[in-house]
Amino acid sequence: MEATTKWGAWWDHLATKRTFDDTDTASTEANIVKKYLRPKWGDIALRDITYKAAKHWVQEGDLKVRPGMSPGYVHRIFSIFNVTIKEALDQEVLTASPLAGVKLPKRHKKPKPYLSTKSNAAMSAHLREDYRDALAFGLETGVRPGELCGLHSDRIDLDRGWMLVAETFVKRRGIIRPYPKDGDVRWVPLTDLACEIAARRLGARDESKGCGFVHSDGLPCSGVLTFMTVRGRIMHPDTMGYHMRNAAEDAKVPRRSPYSIRRGWATRAAEGGLDAFQIAEILGHATLDQAQEYVQQTPAARMKLVAALSKYPQLTVIEGGLGQTSDTQAGSGAKSGAKVDSQTLAQDRGRVRRSAG
Ligand SMILES: [Zn+2]
Repeated sequence: MEATTKWGAWWDHLATKRTFDDTDTASTEANIVKKYLRPKWGDIALRDITYKAAKHWVQEGDLKVRPGMSPGYVHRIFSIFNVTIKEALDQEVLTASPLAGVKLPKRHKKPKPYLSTKSNAAMSAHLREDYRDALAFGLETGVRPGELCGLHSDRIDLDRGWMLVAETFVKRRGIIRPYPKDGDVRWVPLTDLACEIAARRLGARDESKGCGFVHSDGLPCSGVLTFMTVRGRIMHPDTMGYHMRNAAEDAKVPRRSPYSIRRGWATRAAEGGLDAFQIAEILGHATLDQAQEYVQQTPAARMKLVAALSKYPQLTVIEGGLGQTSDTQAGSGAKSGAKVDSQTLAQDRGRVRRSAG
């Protein structure tokens, strides 16, 4: 390939090698290329892509932050464009990146909306039992919508109270993938409520029938889908979202997406005192970054800090305190006004106070 290759042709060349193990990522990327990258850069030769044009595109052009174009989405689009330029550098088609130094809009790190137990309780009254159970189960386990919809009965161990999160429903392709987003299956503990819901959803169904969906690894299915609609159809994340929106409107609580259920679980877990490691493990995150966001600013985090700061308080002896009255046993060796070690003071807490500092 030459530097005179048009970006569109360069993309087509790269796209054949970009595989994502049949996740939704591939189609998201294809959409972005179709909508934003090809119309803008498709007919331009790689060597004619300039810093100035890229900068203008981001700051004034189609990627300008406005309603419908969030900073996060600008980053997403730009990152795909950047990948193609990096490839051109790696393959020595270009010698310098025209994108180096292009400033992207700042992403505001505001907490992402989550489904609170309070909102869920209000929405429950307006949800059909199948969706009510699905939401409650999500708030107990933190699974992704695709994991919830693809949960196979043979992965649930109600006796031990654990489930293996493996099969995932890939909504855009309508198939079952045998592993979650990041590739690793994981064990998730089930609360009593989660067990109760799973048992109710499975009822007396014949679990040897198989789920009826194609498994992308081609292996036969050995279980049924735990969550189905009352009409016996697969619970689809989009339909779940639709019912959640309606219920939120009826209950007059903020609208929430199916993904917000997972964040609701993480928020609950963090507020209950689970640490970032445990949260990341149950959510199936490879890194701690996201889990840490949940742990920050919780009452549990505050209490931990308060406890840490008061662990070695500066102590002072107060009037009438230990060692100052004649009837106190002299063995402690503490004299009036003397510093007293913290262990001695701990025995007589009521008469000691922390200094104001
Ligand atoms: Zn299956």
